[in-house]
Amino acid sequence: MIKIKLENTYLKLPEMFYSKQRPSHVPKPKLVTFNYSLAEKLGLDSQYLESSEGVDILSGNRILEGTTPIAQAYAGHQFGYFTMLGDGRAVLLGELITPKNERVDIQLKGSGETPYSRGGDGKAALGPMLREFIISEAMYGLGIPTTRSLAVVETGDTVIREKLLPGAVLTRIASSHIRVGTFQYIASYGKLDDLRALADYAIERHYKELINDDNKYIKFLKEVIKKQADLISKWQLVGFIHGVMNTDNVTISGETIDYGPCAFMDVYNPSTVFSSIDRSGRYAYGNQPNIGAWNLARFAESLLPLLSDDKDEAINLAQEAIAEYPEIFKGKWISGMRAKLGLFTEKAEDEQLIEGLLSIMNKYGADFTNTFRSLTIGNLDEMKMADEEGFKDWYKLWQQRLSKQDKTKEEVMKLMKNNNPSIIPRNHRVEEALDAAVKADDYSIMDKLLDVIKNPYEYSKEQEEYTSLPGPTKTPYRTFCGT
Ligand code: AMP
Ligand code: MG
Repeated sequence: MIKIKLENTYLKLPEMFYSKQRPSHVPKPKLVTFNYSLAEKLGLDSQYLESSEGVDILSGNRILEGTTPIAQAYAGHQFGYFTMLGDGRAVLLGELITPKNERVDIQLKGSGETPYSRGGDGKAALGPMLREFIISEAMYGLGIPTTRSLAVVETGDTVIREKLLPGAVLTRIASSHIRVGTFQYIASYGKLDDLRALADYAIERHYKELINDDNKYIKFLKEVIKKQADLISKWQLVGFIHGVMNTDNVTISGETIDYGPCAFMDVYNPSTVFSSIDRSGRYAYGNQPNIGAWNLARFAESLLPLLSDDKDEAINLAQEAIAEYPEIFKGKWISGMRAKLGLFTEKAEDEQLIEGLLSIMNKYGADFTNTFRSLTIGNLDEMKMADEEGFKDWYKLWQQRLSKQDKTKEEVMKLMKNNNPSIIPRNHRVEEALDAAVKADDYSIMDKLLDVIKNPYEYSKEQEEYTSLPGPTKTPYRTFCGT
Protein backbone atom coordinates (compact mmCIF):
# COMPACT_ATOMS: atom_id res chain seq x y z
CA MET A 1 0.00 0.00 0.00
CA ILE A 2 1.33 3.44 -0.86
CA LYS A 3 1.31 5.43 2.37
CA ILE A 4 2.79 8.65 1.03
CA LYS A 5 2.31 9.77 -2.53
CA LEU A 6 4.94 12.06 -3.97
CA GLU A 7 5.23 13.71 -7.36
CA ASN A 8 8.31 15.21 -8.93
CA THR A 9 7.54 17.90 -11.48
CA TYR A 10 11.14 19.14 -11.24
CA LEU A 11 12.20 16.00 -13.12
CA LYS A 12 10.38 17.30 -16.18
CA LEU A 13 12.87 20.15 -16.45
CA PRO A 14 15.98 19.64 -18.62
CA GLU A 15 18.61 17.26 -17.24
CA MET A 16 21.11 19.97 -16.37
CA PHE A 17 18.77 21.08 -13.56
CA TYR A 18 19.48 18.08 -11.33
CA SER A 19 21.18 14.75 -10.79
CA LYS A 20 19.33 11.62 -9.81
CA GLN A 21 20.66 10.74 -6.40
CA ARG A 22 19.57 8.29 -3.75
CA PRO A 23 20.24 9.28 -0.16
CA SER A 24 23.09 7.33 1.48
CA HIS A 25 22.33 4.38 3.69
CA VAL A 26 22.66 5.16 7.40
CA PRO A 27 23.61 2.51 9.98
CA LYS A 28 21.18 3.05 12.84
CA PRO A 29 18.36 5.54 12.26
CA LYS A 30 16.65 6.85 15.37
CA LEU A 31 13.90 9.44 15.25
CA VAL A 32 14.73 12.12 17.82
CA THR A 33 12.36 14.97 16.96
CA PHE A 34 9.09 14.96 15.11
CA ASN A 35 6.75 17.82 14.23
CA TYR A 36 3.24 16.45 14.76
CA SER A 37 1.38 19.64 13.93
CA LEU A 38 3.28 20.07 10.68
CA ALA A 39 2.67 16.42 9.75
CA GLU A 40 -1.03 16.98 10.27
CA LYS A 41 -0.97 20.13 8.16
CA LEU A 42 0.74 18.19 5.40
CA GLY A 43 -1.77 15.37 5.62
CA LEU A 44 0.92 12.89 6.64
CA ASP A 45 0.31 9.98 8.96
CA SER A 46 2.45 10.63 12.07
CA GLN A 47 2.03 7.11 13.38
CA TYR A 48 3.35 5.68 10.14
CA LEU A 49 6.29 8.07 10.01
CA GLU A 50 7.21 7.14 13.57
CA SER A 51 7.18 3.42 12.74
CA SER A 52 10.43 1.75 11.73
CA GLU A 53 9.34 1.87 8.07
CA GLY A 54 8.60 5.58 8.43
CA VAL A 55 11.91 6.30 10.14
CA ASP A 56 13.64 4.48 7.29
CA ILE A 57 12.02 6.97 4.91
CA LEU A 58 13.01 9.95 7.05
CA SER A 59 16.61 8.71 7.25
CA GLY A 60 16.87 8.02 3.53
CA ASN A 61 17.23 4.25 3.98
CA ARG A 62 13.96 3.56 2.17
CA ILE A 63 12.84 5.19 -1.03
CA LEU A 64 9.12 5.56 -1.55
CA GLU A 65 7.73 3.47 -4.37
CA GLY A 66 7.61 5.28 -7.68
CA THR A 67 9.76 8.24 -6.65
CA THR A 68 13.07 9.45 -8.04
CA PRO A 69 15.10 11.46 -5.53
CA ILE A 70 17.30 14.17 -6.97
CA ALA A 71 19.99 16.61 -5.95
CA GLN A 72 19.25 20.03 -7.45
CA ALA A 73 21.88 21.99 -9.31
CA TYR A 74 22.44 25.66 -8.57
CA ALA A 75 25.16 28.25 -8.37
CA GLY A 76 25.45 31.37 -6.27
CA HIS A 77 27.40 34.32 -5.02
CA GLN A 78 28.97 33.36 -1.72
CA PHE A 79 30.21 36.44 0.11
CA GLY A 80 30.25 38.18 -3.27
CA TYR A 81 32.04 35.45 -5.25
CA PHE A 82 30.28 33.43 -7.92
CA THR A 83 30.60 29.65 -7.53
CA MET A 84 28.96 26.48 -8.79
CA LEU A 85 27.13 24.82 -5.91
CA GLY A 86 24.11 22.50 -5.86
CA ASP A 87 22.68 20.21 -3.20
CA GLY A 88 25.92 18.92 -1.77
CA ARG A 89 24.33 17.27 1.22
CA ALA A 90 20.63 17.12 0.44
CA VAL A 91 18.22 15.27 -1.79
CA LEU A 92 14.73 16.17 -2.84
CA LEU A 93 12.52 13.14 -2.25
CA GLY A 94 9.66 14.67 -4.15
CA GLU A 95 6.68 16.99 -3.93
CA LEU A 96 3.69 16.41 -1.75
CA ILE A 97 0.24 17.83 -2.40
CA THR A 98 -1.17 18.96 0.95
CA PRO A 99 -4.83 18.72 1.99
CA LYS A 100 -5.11 22.40 1.05
CA ASN A 101 -3.90 21.51 -2.42
CA GLU A 102 -0.53 23.19 -1.99
CA ARG A 103 2.60 21.67 -3.50
CA VAL A 104 5.56 21.37 -1.13
CA ASP A 105 9.03 19.88 -1.47
CA ILE A 106 10.16 17.18 0.91
CA GLN A 107 13.91 17.24 1.19
CA LEU A 108 16.38 15.31 3.29
CA LYS A 109 19.31 17.38 4.48
CA GLY A 110 22.49 15.63 5.61
CA SER A 111 21.70 12.63 3.40
CA GLY A 112 25.15 11.97 1.98
CA GLU A 113 27.36 12.83 -0.96
CA THR A 114 26.01 14.02 -4.29
CA PRO A 115 27.67 15.13 -7.54
CA TYR A 116 27.64 18.65 -6.03
CA SER A 117 29.43 17.82 -2.78
CA ARG A 118 32.70 19.45 -3.90
CA GLY A 119 34.80 17.30 -1.60
CA GLY A 120 32.44 17.60 1.37
CA ASP A 121 31.10 14.50 3.09
CA GLY A 122 27.45 15.29 2.37
CA LYS A 123 26.60 14.80 6.01
CA ALA A 124 25.21 16.93 8.79
CA ALA A 125 25.80 16.87 12.52
CA LEU A 126 22.96 16.43 14.98
CA GLY A 127 23.41 19.80 16.75
CA PRO A 128 23.04 22.00 13.63
CA MET A 129 20.05 19.99 12.37
CA LEU A 130 18.28 20.38 15.71
CA ARG A 131 19.18 24.05 15.62
CA GLU A 132 17.55 24.42 12.19
CA PHE A 133 14.49 22.62 13.57
CA ILE A 134 14.20 25.03 16.51
CA ILE A 135 14.86 28.27 14.65
CA SER A 136 12.72 27.48 11.61
CA GLU A 137 9.80 26.53 13.83
CA ALA A 138 10.33 29.70 15.87
CA MET A 139 10.21 31.71 12.64
CA TYR A 140 6.97 30.00 11.69
CA GLY A 141 5.55 30.90 15.11
CA LEU A 142 6.59 34.49 14.55
CA GLY A 143 4.61 34.54 11.31
CA ILE A 144 7.67 34.85 9.09
CA PRO A 145 7.71 32.94 5.79
CA THR A 146 10.06 30.00 6.22
CA THR A 147 10.93 26.48 5.21
CA ARG A 148 9.88 24.11 7.97
CA SER A 149 11.25 21.10 9.78
CA LEU A 150 9.33 17.86 9.92
CA ALA A 151 11.78 15.57 11.66
CA VAL A 152 15.33 14.94 12.74
CA VAL A 153 16.71 11.42 12.64
CA GLU A 154 19.98 10.54 14.27
CA THR A 155 21.87 8.34 11.82
CA GLY A 156 24.10 6.31 14.13
CA ASP A 157 26.96 7.60 11.99
CA THR A 158 29.79 9.82 13.13
CA VAL A 159 30.52 13.06 11.37
CA ILE A 160 34.03 14.42 11.35
CA ARG A 161 34.23 18.15 12.06
CA GLU A 162 36.64 19.82 14.49
CA LYS A 163 35.74 16.83 16.59
CA LEU A 164 33.65 13.70 16.08
CA LEU A 165 29.94 14.45 16.22
CA PRO A 166 26.78 12.37 15.93
CA GLY A 167 25.29 12.54 12.43
CA ALA A 168 21.69 13.39 11.59
CA VAL A 169 19.25 13.92 8.75
CA LEU A 170 16.68 16.71 8.80
CA THR A 171 13.46 16.51 6.80
CA ARG A 172 12.89 19.97 5.38
CA ILE A 173 9.60 21.14 3.93
CA ALA A 174 9.65 24.07 1.53
CA SER A 175 7.17 25.54 -0.89
CA SER A 176 10.06 24.94 -3.31
CA HIS A 177 13.85 24.99 -3.29
CA ILE A 178 14.21 27.29 -6.29
CA ARG A 179 16.80 29.91 -5.44
CA VAL A 180 18.23 33.03 -7.02
CA GLY A 181 21.26 30.78 -7.44
CA THR A 182 19.20 28.33 -9.52
CA PHE A 183 18.53 31.15 -11.99
CA GLN A 184 22.15 32.21 -11.91
CA TYR A 185 23.23 28.66 -12.72
CA ILE A 186 20.88 28.29 -15.69
CA ALA A 187 21.61 31.82 -16.95
CA SER A 188 25.34 31.10 -16.84
CA TYR A 189 25.46 27.54 -18.13
CA GLY A 190 22.14 26.88 -19.88
CA LYS A 191 20.47 27.99 -23.07
CA LEU A 192 17.72 30.57 -23.36
CA ASP A 193 15.13 27.78 -23.54
CA ASP A 194 16.39 26.36 -20.24
CA LEU A 195 16.09 29.74 -18.58
CA ARG A 196 12.57 30.16 -19.93
CA ALA A 197 11.68 26.68 -18.70
CA LEU A 198 12.92 27.55 -15.20
CA ALA A 199 11.12 30.89 -15.11
CA ASP A 200 7.88 29.30 -16.36
CA TYR A 201 8.23 26.53 -13.79
CA ALA A 202 8.79 29.03 -10.95
CA ILE A 203 5.88 31.19 -12.12
CA GLU A 204 3.59 28.18 -12.34
CA ARG A 205 4.58 27.15 -8.85
CA HIS A 206 4.66 30.48 -7.04
CA TYR A 207 3.08 33.22 -9.14
CA LYS A 208 0.30 31.40 -10.97
CA GLU A 209 -1.63 34.60 -11.59
CA LEU A 210 1.09 35.63 -14.07
CA ILE A 211 1.02 32.53 -16.28
CA ASN A 212 -0.92 34.12 -19.12
CA ASP A 213 0.37 37.64 -18.69
CA ASP A 214 2.12 39.15 -21.73
CA ASN A 215 4.72 40.75 -19.45
CA LYS A 216 5.05 37.83 -17.12
CA TYR A 217 8.83 37.85 -16.70
CA ILE A 218 9.19 41.46 -15.60
CA LYS A 219 6.16 41.04 -13.35
CA PHE A 220 7.74 37.88 -11.96
CA LEU A 221 10.87 39.87 -11.12
CA LYS A 222 8.78 42.54 -9.41
CA GLU A 223 6.85 39.98 -7.39
CA VAL A 224 10.04 38.34 -6.16
CA ILE A 225 11.38 41.78 -5.22
CA LYS A 226 8.22 42.42 -3.18
CA LYS A 227 8.38 39.02 -1.51
CA GLN A 228 12.01 39.47 -0.51
CA ALA A 229 11.43 43.04 0.70
CA ASP A 230 8.58 41.76 2.81
CA LEU A 231 10.65 38.88 4.17
CA ILE A 232 13.68 40.96 5.08
CA SER A 233 11.51 43.65 6.70
CA LYS A 234 10.04 40.91 8.89
CA TRP A 235 13.52 39.75 9.86
CA GLN A 236 14.47 43.30 10.81
CA LEU A 237 11.33 43.74 12.89
CA VAL A 238 12.19 40.81 15.17
CA GLY A 239 15.98 41.15 15.16
CA PHE A 240 16.67 38.03 13.12
CA ILE A 241 20.09 37.82 11.53
CA HIS A 242 20.28 35.26 8.74
CA GLY A 243 24.05 35.26 8.70
CA VAL A 244 24.68 33.86 5.24
CA MET A 245 22.59 35.75 2.70
CA ASN A 246 24.38 34.28 -0.28
CA THR A 247 22.31 34.22 -3.47
CA ASP A 248 21.95 30.44 -3.21
CA ASN A 249 20.15 31.03 0.07
CA VAL A 250 17.56 33.40 -1.40
CA THR A 251 14.35 31.67 -2.41
CA ILE A 252 12.05 32.67 -5.24
CA SER A 253 9.10 31.80 -3.01
CA GLY A 254 10.15 34.38 -0.41
CA GLU A 255 10.69 31.84 2.36
CA THR A 256 13.62 32.03 4.75
CA ILE A 257 15.94 29.16 3.93
CA ASP A 258 19.15 27.67 5.22
CA TYR A 259 19.44 28.03 8.94
CA GLY A 260 23.18 27.84 9.31
CA PRO A 261 24.81 30.61 11.28
CA CYS A 262 21.60 32.59 11.90
CA ALA A 263 20.68 33.94 15.33
CA PHE A 264 18.47 36.51 17.02
CA MET A 265 20.03 39.72 18.24
CA ASP A 266 19.87 40.50 21.95
CA VAL A 267 21.26 44.04 22.39
CA TYR A 268 20.19 46.34 19.58
CA ASN A 269 23.17 47.16 17.44
CA PRO A 270 22.99 47.37 13.64
CA SER A 271 26.52 46.02 13.26
CA THR A 272 25.70 42.76 15.06
CA VAL A 273 27.18 39.67 13.39
CA PHE A 274 27.15 36.18 14.86
CA SER A 275 28.66 34.13 12.06
CA SER A 276 32.28 33.17 12.62
CA ILE A 277 33.02 33.39 8.89
CA ASP A 278 31.47 36.84 8.30
CA ARG A 279 34.59 38.77 9.20
CA SER A 280 33.76 41.96 7.31
CA GLY A 281 30.18 42.16 8.55
CA ARG A 282 28.74 41.76 5.05
CA TYR A 283 25.67 40.09 6.53
CA ALA A 284 25.39 42.20 9.71
CA TYR A 285 21.87 42.97 10.97
CA GLY A 286 21.85 46.53 9.65
CA ASN A 287 23.19 45.43 6.27
CA GLN A 288 20.52 42.83 5.52
CA PRO A 289 18.17 45.18 3.62
CA ASN A 290 21.01 46.37 1.34
CA ILE A 291 22.27 42.87 0.74
CA GLY A 292 18.70 41.96 -0.19
CA ALA A 293 18.90 44.55 -2.97
CA TRP A 294 22.29 43.26 -4.10
CA ASN A 295 20.96 39.69 -4.29
CA LEU A 296 17.87 40.79 -6.20
CA ALA A 297 20.07 42.62 -8.68
CA ARG A 298 21.83 39.30 -9.34
CA PHE A 299 18.41 37.73 -9.88
CA ALA A 300 17.42 40.52 -12.29
CA GLU A 301 20.67 40.04 -14.22
CA SER A 302 19.96 36.38 -14.73
CA LEU A 303 16.49 37.18 -16.09
CA LEU A 304 17.71 39.78 -18.62
CA PRO A 305 17.39 37.62 -21.77
CA LEU A 306 13.74 37.00 -20.91
CA LEU A 307 12.86 40.64 -20.29
CA SER A 308 13.42 41.88 -23.83
CA ASP A 309 15.21 40.91 -27.04
CA ASP A 310 16.77 44.33 -26.91
CA LYS A 311 19.62 44.22 -24.42
CA ASP A 312 19.45 47.89 -23.42
CA GLU A 313 15.72 47.73 -22.92
CA ALA A 314 16.11 44.61 -20.80
CA ILE A 315 18.69 46.35 -18.61
CA ASN A 316 16.44 49.39 -18.24
CA LEU A 317 13.48 47.28 -17.21
CA ALA A 318 15.56 45.37 -14.68
CA GLN A 319 17.09 48.53 -13.25
CA GLU A 320 13.71 50.18 -12.88
CA ALA A 321 12.40 47.17 -11.00
CA ILE A 322 15.41 46.98 -8.69
CA ALA A 323 15.25 50.73 -8.07
CA GLU A 324 11.83 50.25 -6.50
CA TYR A 325 13.15 47.89 -3.83
CA PRO A 326 14.39 50.44 -1.26
CA GLU A 327 11.03 52.16 -1.12
CA ILE A 328 9.08 48.92 -1.03
CA PHE A 329 11.30 47.69 1.78
CA LYS A 330 11.06 50.93 3.73
CA GLY A 331 7.29 51.08 3.40
CA LYS A 332 6.96 47.58 4.83
CA TRP A 333 9.47 48.22 7.57
CA ILE A 334 7.91 51.51 8.68
CA SER A 335 4.44 50.07 8.75
CA GLY A 336 5.79 47.16 10.82
CA MET A 337 7.52 49.57 13.21
CA ARG A 338 4.35 51.64 13.52
CA ALA A 339 2.51 48.53 14.61
CA LYS A 340 5.29 47.73 17.09
CA LEU A 341 4.71 51.17 18.61
CA GLY A 342 0.94 50.82 18.65
CA LEU A 343 0.33 53.32 15.86
CA PHE A 344 -2.73 52.74 13.71
CA THR A 345 -2.41 55.90 11.66
CA GLU A 346 0.39 57.25 9.48
CA LYS A 347 2.09 60.55 10.12
CA ALA A 348 5.16 62.03 8.50
CA GLU A 349 6.85 62.42 11.89
CA ASP A 350 6.70 58.67 12.57
CA GLU A 351 9.99 57.84 10.94
CA GLN A 352 11.78 60.26 13.23
CA LEU A 353 10.04 58.79 16.25
CA ILE A 354 11.09 55.29 15.23
CA GLU A 355 14.68 56.27 14.48
CA GLY A 356 14.77 58.19 17.75
CA LEU A 357 13.94 55.09 19.76
CA LEU A 358 16.44 52.93 17.88
CA SER A 359 19.21 55.41 18.42
CA ILE A 360 18.54 55.55 22.18
CA MET A 361 18.42 51.76 22.31
CA ASN A 362 21.75 51.65 20.55
CA LYS A 363 23.24 54.25 22.88
CA TYR A 364 22.19 52.43 26.05
CA GLY A 365 22.72 48.89 24.77
CA ALA A 366 19.05 48.01 25.17
CA ASP A 367 17.80 44.53 24.40
CA PHE A 368 15.80 44.63 21.16
CA THR A 369 12.98 42.22 22.01
CA ASN A 370 12.62 43.17 25.66
CA THR A 371 12.48 46.90 24.94
CA PHE A 372 9.42 46.44 22.75
CA ARG A 373 8.04 43.94 25.22
CA SER A 374 8.34 46.45 28.06
CA LEU A 375 6.78 49.23 25.99
CA THR A 376 3.92 46.87 25.09
CA ILE A 377 2.98 45.94 28.63
CA GLY A 378 4.05 49.25 30.16
CA ASN A 379 6.66 47.57 32.30
CA LEU A 380 9.23 50.34 32.12
CA ASP A 381 10.94 49.32 35.38
CA GLU A 382 12.44 46.38 33.52
CA MET A 383 14.27 48.72 31.16
CA LYS A 384 17.81 49.68 32.04
CA MET A 385 17.41 52.99 30.22
CA ALA A 386 14.08 53.95 31.83
CA ASP A 387 15.66 56.74 33.91
CA GLU A 388 17.81 58.20 31.18
CA GLU A 389 16.76 61.68 30.06
CA GLY A 390 17.02 60.72 26.39
CA PHE A 391 14.57 57.90 26.86
CA LYS A 392 12.19 59.97 28.98
CA ASP A 393 12.06 62.65 26.27
CA TRP A 394 11.39 60.05 23.62
CA TYR A 395 8.70 58.46 25.75
CA LYS A 396 6.86 61.79 26.05
CA LEU A 397 6.93 62.22 22.27
CA TRP A 398 5.61 58.70 21.83
CA GLN A 399 2.76 59.32 24.29
CA GLN A 400 1.89 62.53 22.47
CA ARG A 401 1.87 60.69 19.17
CA LEU A 402 -0.39 57.96 20.61
CA SER A 403 -2.82 60.59 21.83
CA LYS A 404 -3.24 61.84 18.26
CA GLN A 405 -5.11 58.69 17.28
CA ASP A 406 -8.55 57.76 18.37
CA LYS A 407 -7.73 54.45 20.00
CA THR A 408 -8.09 53.11 23.51
CA LYS A 409 -5.15 51.88 25.60
CA GLU A 410 -6.46 48.35 25.18
CA GLU A 411 -6.54 48.66 21.42
CA VAL A 412 -2.99 49.99 21.38
CA MET A 413 -1.77 47.20 23.62
CA LYS A 414 -3.47 44.58 21.47
CA LEU A 415 -1.80 45.89 18.32
CA MET A 416 1.56 45.98 20.09
CA LYS A 417 1.18 42.47 21.48
CA ASN A 418 0.43 41.17 18.01
CA ASN A 419 3.57 42.76 16.63
CA ASN A 420 6.12 42.49 19.42
CA PRO A 421 7.09 38.95 20.29
CA SER A 422 7.23 38.39 24.00
CA ILE A 423 9.94 35.81 23.42
CA ILE A 424 12.44 34.78 20.78
CA PRO A 425 14.67 31.70 20.78
CA ARG A 426 17.51 33.34 22.65
CA ASN A 427 20.95 32.02 21.85
CA HIS A 428 21.73 30.83 25.36
CA ARG A 429 18.39 29.00 25.53
CA VAL A 430 18.96 27.34 22.18
CA GLU A 431 22.47 26.29 23.23
CA GLU A 432 21.18 24.92 26.51
CA ALA A 433 18.55 22.84 24.67
CA LEU A 434 21.08 21.56 22.12
CA ASP A 435 23.63 20.69 24.77
CA ALA A 436 21.19 18.52 26.68
CA ALA A 437 19.96 16.85 23.49
CA VAL A 438 23.31 16.17 21.86
CA LYS A 439 25.43 15.41 24.92
CA ALA A 440 22.92 13.73 27.21
CA ASP A 441 20.19 12.54 24.80
CA ASP A 442 17.82 14.65 26.89
CA TYR A 443 15.23 16.34 24.67
CA SER A 444 13.08 17.74 27.46
CA ILE A 445 14.63 21.24 27.41
CA MET A 446 14.28 21.45 23.65
CA ASP A 447 10.68 20.24 23.76
CA LYS A 448 9.81 22.87 26.34
CA LEU A 449 11.53 25.58 24.31
CA LEU A 450 9.68 24.48 21.16
CA ASP A 451 6.47 24.55 23.08
CA VAL A 452 6.81 28.15 24.25
CA ILE A 453 8.23 29.61 21.05
CA LYS A 454 5.26 28.27 19.13
CA ASN A 455 3.21 31.20 20.43
CA PRO A 456 5.61 34.11 20.73
CA TYR A 457 2.89 36.77 20.84
CA GLU A 458 1.10 35.26 23.80
CA TYR A 459 2.62 37.10 26.80
CA SER A 460 1.87 34.19 29.12
CA LYS A 461 3.30 33.54 32.55
CA GLU A 462 5.29 30.51 31.39
CA GLN A 463 7.05 32.60 28.77
CA GLU A 464 8.50 34.97 31.33
CA GLU A 465 11.54 32.89 32.23
CA TYR A 466 12.45 32.88 28.52
CA THR A 467 12.71 36.67 28.44
CA SER A 468 15.79 36.72 30.62
CA LEU A 469 19.06 37.69 29.03
CA PRO A 470 22.23 35.60 28.97
CA GLY A 471 24.64 36.21 31.81
CA PRO A 472 27.83 38.12 31.05
CA THR A 473 30.13 36.01 28.89
CA LYS A 474 33.75 36.65 28.12
CA THR A 475 33.44 36.03 24.39
CA PRO A 476 30.59 37.17 22.16
CA TYR A 477 28.19 34.53 20.85
CA ARG A 478 29.46 32.86 17.68
CA THR A 479 27.64 30.71 15.18
CA PHE A 480 28.98 28.36 12.56
CA CYS A 481 27.76 27.24 9.17
CA GLY A 482 27.00 23.81 10.50
CA THR A 483 28.86 22.01 7.75
P1 AMP B 1 25.21 26.23 3.00
O1 AMP B 1 26.29 26.94 3.71
O2 AMP B 1 24.51 25.18 3.84
O3 AMP B 1 24.27 27.12 2.28
O4 AMP B 1 25.95 25.36 1.87
C1 AMP B 1 26.62 25.93 0.79
C2 AMP B 1 26.97 24.84 -0.19
O5 AMP B 1 27.83 23.89 0.39
C3 AMP B 1 25.78 24.05 -0.72
O6 AMP B 1 26.03 23.71 -2.05
C4 AMP B 1 25.77 22.84 0.18
O7 AMP B 1 25.11 21.75 -0.41
C5 AMP B 1 27.26 22.60 0.33
N1 AMP B 1 27.59 21.86 1.55
C6 AMP B 1 27.45 22.28 2.82
N2 AMP B 1 27.87 21.34 3.69
C7 AMP B 1 28.28 20.28 2.96
C8 AMP B 1 28.80 19.01 3.28
N3 AMP B 1 29.02 18.60 4.54
N4 AMP B 1 29.11 18.19 2.24
C9 AMP B 1 28.92 18.56 0.98
N5 AMP B 1 28.43 19.74 0.62
C10 AMP B 1 28.10 20.61 1.59
MG1 MG C 1 22.62 26.98 1.23
